[in-house]
Amino acid sequence: MEMTAATQLYALAIEKWGYKAQACMVMGECGELTAAVNQFFIQGRTDKRDQVLDEMADVSIMIEQLIFMLEAGPKFEQIKDQKLNRLADIIAGAIQHPHAGVES
Ligand SMILES: [Mg+2]
Repeated sequence: MEMTAATQLYALAIEKWGYKAQACMVMGECGELTAAVNQFFIQGRTDKRDQVLDEMADVSIMIEQLIFMLEAGPKFEQIKDQKLNRLADIIAGAIQHPHAGVES
């Protein structure tokens, strides 16, 4: 794996705190993003936009760290491509999905 500045940081974080602590960080950051999305989109707290962006950045970093921890870059991209193709099929109506019945 190419060691970019970010991946060097992920390696240092794992060395310093270990896999289990970093896995707990993933769960914590996902919870913070869930709360911020709920406040902004569900509760209508438009003042929380920057908090949503902040938590998005945290979760994005933790996903990259998970990819590093699992040594899963190419496999992750393959699965992501499959999911995007499936989303396109759902939007086109080629696949039935519960989202089809959800009103915005
Ligand atoms: Mg956070």
